[in-house]
Amino acid sequence: MKIIDHIKNAKGKTLFSFELLPPAKGQGIQSIFNTMDELMEFNPPFIDVTYHREDYLYKQHPNGLLERVAYRKRPGTVAICAAIMNKYKVDAVPHLICGGFTKEETENALIDLDFLGIDNVLVLRGDARKGDPDFIPTPGGHAYATELLAQVVDMNNGKYLHEDIEGSKTNFCIGVAGYPEKHFEAPNFNTDFKWLKKKVEMGANFIVTQMFYNIDRYKEFVIKCRDNGIDVPIIPGLKPLTNKKQLISLPKIFHLDIPEELSSAIEECKTNADVQKVSTEWMVNMCKELIDFGVPVLHFYTMSNPGPTKKIVEQLA
Ligand code: FAD
Repeated sequence: MKIIDHIKNAKGKTLFSFELLPPAKGQGIQSIFNTMDELMEFNPPFIDVTYHREDYLYKQHPNGLLERVAYRKRPGTVAICAAIMNKYKVDAVPHLICGGFTKEETENALIDLDFLGIDNVLVLRGDARKGDPDFIPTPGGHAYATELLAQVVDMNNGKYLHEDIEGSKTNFCIGVAGYPEKHFEAPNFNTDFKWLKKKVEMGANFIVTQMFYNIDRYKEFVIKCRDNGIDVPIIPGLKPLTNKKQLISLPKIFHLDIPEELSSAIEECKTNADVQKVSTEWMVNMCKELIDFGVPVLHFYTMSNPGPTKKIVEQLA
C-alpha cells in the first residue's frame, strides 16, 4: 500500500516506522529478521531500507602497488525489501539513489521494484563516496534527486527512456528528503527550500526529514512548507543518540543543532548507557510534542540497532 494511504487510513493516529541498513557484505539476512522481530510489536506500516553506493577499497599488491577498486559494503537493498514484504507482510520502502546508476540501470531497477509489488520509493541523490571530496555523479546517471524524481514520475506516466509505453505505467508513491536545518551543501536555507518545493511540484508525494534534536527547527520548517503551498505529509526523521562522540560528529556531518540543554546533559554522562538514558528521555519528550503537533508518522533511524529506538517507542505506543 502507498504510504500516503497508510497515513489516510490511520485517521490522525500517529504511526511508527523504521529505517534499516542492509548488513555488511558477507553477513546474512538474519540480522535484518532479528531487528524486524524486535520492531513488529509497534505495527510499523512501512520499513525503509537504505541504499549504499560503492566506496573505494585499497588493495596492496605483492609488488607494493596500491590498487583502488570500487566496493559496495552494504549491497542487498532490493532483496531485503522483498524478503521483509514476504515474511512480515509490511510495506518496504527502498531508498533509490543517483550515485552508482546510469539512467538505464535506474529504469531497470524500477521495473524490478514494480514487479516485486513495491509501492513506495524514497528518491535521493545519495551520499558522496568516502574519499571523494563531493558527490560525483555516475556518467550517464543523475546529479540531483530532482532528476531521478523526474525519471520515476515519467515512468508513472508510462514514459520510459527511449519510448512511451502507455499500457505499462508504474504507480510508485514517491518520497523525498527534506532538511529542517538546510542541507549541508546548500549556500542558505531558502535555496535548499526552493529545491524541496520543486521536488513536491514535480510530483513527490511525501517528505522524510533529516534527523533533528531541536523541535522548533522542525515546527518552523513545517510551517514554512505549509505557507509555501507544500501540502504533502512531512514525516520527521528521528535518531536516538548512543554515544558522546555524536555531539561533534552529527552537527559536523549533517549541519544540525543540538540544543545546549541536551548537549550539556550528555557531556556529563560517564558511559554510553548514561548517554542513551538522557537521549531516551529527550526523544520521548520530543516525540510527545511531535504527536501533539500532529505528525502523521514518527520515523526512526535505527541503524539496524533496534534497542535504543525500542526504549523510546515503548513509552509512546
Ligand atoms: P538533492 O535534493 O539532490 O539535494 C542535494 C543538494 O543540491 C542540496 O544542497 C540542494 O539544495 C541542492 N539541489 C537540489 N536539487 C538541485 C538542482 N536541481 N540543481 C542544483 N542544486 C540542487 N544517502 C544514501 O546514500 N543512501 C540512503 O539510503 C540515504 N537515505 C536518506 C534518507 C533520508 C530521509 C535523508 C534525509 C537522507 C538520506 N541519505 C541517504 C542522505 C542523502 O543522500 C544526502 O543528504 C545527500 O547529500 C542529499 O540527498 P538529497 O536527495 O537531499 O539531494
